[in-house]
Amino acid sequence: MEKAVEEAYRATEGGDGGPFGAVIVRDGEVVISCHNMVRRNTDPSAHAEVTAIREVNKATPYSGMCHHILLVLLLCQ
Ligand SMILES: [Zn+2]
Repeated sequence: MEKAVEEAYRATEGGDGGPFGAVIVRDGEVVISCHNMVRRNTDPSAHAEVTAIREVNKATPYSGMCHHILLVLLLCQ
């Protein structure tokens, strides 16, 4: 959860996108943490959770997401 909050702050402070953070966990370990990149990438699909899924797939192509937990956080300011 803490990592997702950090990512949400990073998204807004860096101007990358809206205040969303996402973390993917497997076996109790954070596999990846990402934030909203809609503005930075000028890509309306670059939500935090989509970015996180894309990054996991880059690291381990075709392995799927079984046994992974995806946490998405919206920071209300
Ligand atoms: Zn989304």
